[in-house]
Amino acid sequence: MTYAEVHQRSLSDREAYWAEQAALVDWQQPFTRVCDNDNPPFTKWFTGGTTNLCHNAVDRHMATRPDAPALIFVSTETGQERVYSFSELHAEVQCMAASLLALGVKQGDRVLVYLPMIPEAAFAMLACARIGAIHSVVFGGFASVSLASRIDDAEPVVVISADAGSRSGKVVAYKPLLDEAIRLAAHKPKAVLMVDRGLSAFERVPGRDADYATLREQHRATVVPCTWVDSTHPSYTLYTSGTTGKPKGVQRDTGGYAVALAASMKQIFMGQPGETFFSTSDVGWVVGHSYIVYGPLIAGMATIMYEGLPTRGMDGQPDAAIWWSLVERYKVTAMFSAPTAVRVLKKQDPAALKKYDLSSLRALFLAGEPLDEPTARWISDALGRPIIDNYWQTESGWPILTVANGIEPRASKFGSPGVPMPGYDVKLVDEATGEELKGANQKGVLVIEGPLPPGFMQTVWRDDARFVKTYWQSVPGRQVYSTFDWGIRDEDGYFFILGRTDDVINVAGHRLGTREIEESISSHPAVAEVAVVGVADNLKGQVAMAFVVLRDAAFAADANDALKLEGDIMKVVDTQLGAVARPARVRFVNSLPKTRSGKLLRRALQAVCEGRDPGDLTTIEDPTALLQIKALFTPA
Ligand code: ATP
Ligand code: MG
Repeated sequence: MTYAEVHQRSLSDREAYWAEQAALVDWQQPFTRVCDNDNPPFTKWFTGGTTNLCHNAVDRHMATRPDAPALIFVSTETGQERVYSFSELHAEVQCMAASLLALGVKQGDRVLVYLPMIPEAAFAMLACARIGAIHSVVFGGFASVSLASRIDDAEPVVVISADAGSRSGKVVAYKPLLDEAIRLAAHKPKAVLMVDRGLSAFERVPGRDADYATLREQHRATVVPCTWVDSTHPSYTLYTSGTTGKPKGVQRDTGGYAVALAASMKQIFMGQPGETFFSTSDVGWVVGHSYIVYGPLIAGMATIMYEGLPTRGMDGQPDAAIWWSLVERYKVTAMFSAPTAVRVLKKQDPAALKKYDLSSLRALFLAGEPLDEPTARWISDALGRPIIDNYWQTESGWPILTVANGIEPRASKFGSPGVPMPGYDVKLVDEATGEELKGANQKGVLVIEGPLPPGFMQTVWRDDARFVKTYWQSVPGRQVYSTFDWGIRDEDGYFFILGRTDDVINVAGHRLGTREIEESISSHPAVAEVAVVGVADNLKGQVAMAFVVLRDAAFAADANDALKLEGDIMKVVDTQLGAVARPARVRFVNSLPKTRSGKLLRRALQAVCEGRDPGDLTTIEDPTALLQIKALFTPA
């Protein structure tokens, strides 16, 4: 069947289509209903069925591939490297599960995981799934305040943490941050399970803090069978990045998620059992949940868990080829990363990409933010492999738009993530009227008609009203799921994402997407990264302000160079988009303010430009980026 036929069938014969996909995973009790949409927008998948995510990711491979690699841990921070086979993973997960049970965790209880990228993070997630506990992984880079708000929202019985993480060789102590977060939080977890990496000495709270090494030793031989849970049983909660405001606690089911991941591994990532998947994300993000831990393992693949930077080798020395050395060593067939990481590599020596044998690699998948054409072309030329942009959200759990080469090989188009994946009824609507835009190249809000496919969020954790209000009531006159992203669809049905609905600026009555201006600026060869925001202006309402990180700071070495470059960049925008889109100023900066997941924080940037308080900065990666920009706007 062609892609078009498969996609059509997934919508017109939804039940039959998903029942077939459901055969990709094991069920204890078969489901009695495929899609229960009696109470929209709360769709239930595979009701009546019972299953277990850990069984599907680990146990079921024990019969066929017990000695095959499952989890490959590489840390360029500590110089550790270790391969766990499926049977070793099976044993480790049971030790962790037994430890959680010993600490009183029961089915439906929440377990908050606040860990660096170490194998115990995967053991913890799988152990929770195994016993029917709901995990809530909080990115290890968050500090006390962010962590405290998540503790209060999830109300975990147990928190699993470690003494420390490490970043660029610097030890980042976690325990003091966790202790402070628990002090700040209204909810107090019963126990804290500590993984001691021996990186940073810490104090134990008597009666509360347990030592994982001790519990693991005690439970080496404890058998913990999988708890069969209803398909609709929540497997986890996870927060969105917080790019546009207060993060939303996304709640996901079990059965629908397992099926969606299994189908996506086949249709999109084309992963075969025995192959190796390498996602450079973090377990704290949705990509880490779906495509470091669950997806590859469900598919019987080995998955690489990498702690470290893309530019630092095992010996702690600069090495821009470290990722590619792993591709060679572990014969990685599919790699998943983010445009922001590729832009970091773009500033390095391109020869790094040629040092290793990358012949195993079939494709590089990139997601998380718009993939600008120059970056896409650069990495595509350098790797000589297809670059597959894929568009999705924490909410969706798996790609909404991309190309499904596992269904039918299809060319990607630069600048476009692709076409809707099976089960997604994607539409563009007029923001003001809610009317569907059916013609080619009309710009509208990207929405999804319910029922949403398996794997999609069930609700906002403990806040059904917020789920309905936030996502389903923003388009006038219709109940559709809004992605809050702008898009267009071309004549061939390929979508292009034009930015977030709150990233539109209004210059003298012209509505401009900041993404379009950024795209234009990034086509200038000197530019490595750019952010454009709208800044209040007495005359024009708003003007565009551009912040550029150069590939080589020497390009703007002195004031004259900078002025000339600013003029050149403005000319590029003039020619490509017209003078109305020309930024009022182009400023050269060392770095851009980003969320911990590497997304531009335009909201904070704009506030600083307008002399306002940038608000909650606990999710920001590098506060100095904002300080430098603040200085530009503070009169000397
Ligand atoms: P919040 O919802 O809390 O503001 P967030 O939207 O950044 O945070 P995520 O769920 O991590 O949190 O990100 C999803 C968003 O990232 C999408 O809605 C879209 O704006 C952007 N995005 C993801 N992938 C792509 C892509 N391939 N192309 C363009 N944009 C993308
Ligand atoms: Mg979002």
